[in-house]
Amino acid sequence: MPSSTWVNFADIKKRVSIADVLLKFYRIDNLKHDGDKLIGPCPVHQGDSPRAFHADTTKNLWHCFSKCQGGGNQLDLVAKKEDISIRDAALKLQAFFLSGESSAGHPPTPATKAVPEKPAQTPAPGGSSTESTDETTKEENPPLDLKLDLKPDHPHLLHDRGLKLETVKHFGIGYCSRGMLRGMIAIPIHDDESVLVAYAGRRLKPVDIRAHGKYRLPKGFKKELVLYNLHRAKEYQEEHGLILVEGFFSVVKLYEAGLKNVVAPMGCELSEEQAQLCSEAKEVIIIFDGNDAGYHGAATAKAKLTPYVPVRVVKLPLDTEPESFPGKTLRWVINGITALDLAEVNFVARPTAPAPNAARTDHSGRPSPTET
Ligand SMILES: [Zn+2]
Repeated sequence: MPSSTWVNFADIKKRVSIADVLLKFYRIDNLKHDGDKLIGPCPVHQGDSPRAFHADTTKNLWHCFSKCQGGGNQLDLVAKKEDISIRDAALKLQAFFLSGESSAGHPPTPATKAVPEKPAQTPAPGGSSTESTDETTKEENPPLDLKLDLKPDHPHLLHDRGLKLETVKHFGIGYCSRGMLRGMIAIPIHDDESVLVAYAGRRLKPVDIRAHGKYRLPKGFKKELVLYNLHRAKEYQEEHGLILVEGFFSVVKLYEAGLKNVVAPMGCELSEEQAQLCSEAKEVIIIFDGNDAGYHGAATAKAKLTPYVPVRVVKLPLDTEPESFPGKTLRWVINGITALDLAEVNFVARPTAPAPNAARTDHSGRPSPTET
């Protein structure tokens, strides 16, 4: 059962050190201090080789040179040792170390700086119950307390972008005729627990786009904490992995091509938090747009994802984007890169379907470097 508890991986890693996990959470007593290191038999695979396991207490990383042949951070240690997801590992550490009064017996040593004691329960606006601490509340997008009445059968969606009405309805997208997003296409954004947290607005009038860019995101919305469509795509992530594209409409187009495991960071920059949100996927296949920003963004995203999950990259030809290709071609490339176990594919085919005008540009919400 997915819980509605918000868990902030970065915050837990910052506040619970690897030494806390080993010495206070698991109470392991056969590790020897050696400078910044804790060395001993591996507690993850329960081995008895006396130097198999090394933990770096400064960098908060561990490595097992024996059976595990790998390592990671604090969350990876708990996840691997107990054979649970990173998220469940984070929830365990959060409950043990950071749930206010109950942790009094085992106060954590902050991995960086001390955090003042605060009441643990902060009711979230909208009545949804979260168990986040004050510290994590700052780092989340609160539930949105309104639902816009949108018109799904707008020509920009069905004609210009050539989307099917059922697809548009599946994503809850539509034309907005009142309020802040009046005159725009509104796209609902949910967090990974399916809680509606924002609407993005896609401007339609060229004069508005020139003045403000294509996309409008609400003030205060923390885009870096959310991966668009993860709440739907995560159902497929363990079996098929995740496909990472840049923008909303790449996700929507790939869905129509039969690819349901697609998520987007809403731009070509993947944040550290967004990278962590992919950590339960079997693998991540990055398909960013074929331009300098996309190529650079893909390389950076790969570096951020690599500590958490295997990564593959499909590099698209210049001036193309995922929607430039027929669904069949995309499925072929994605199946191929996985079946051949390639880390990177330079996809050189020419687009056989011209990208619709409206989709030939950047979906990041910010003007792209090539855009005037
Ligand atoms: Zn081991």
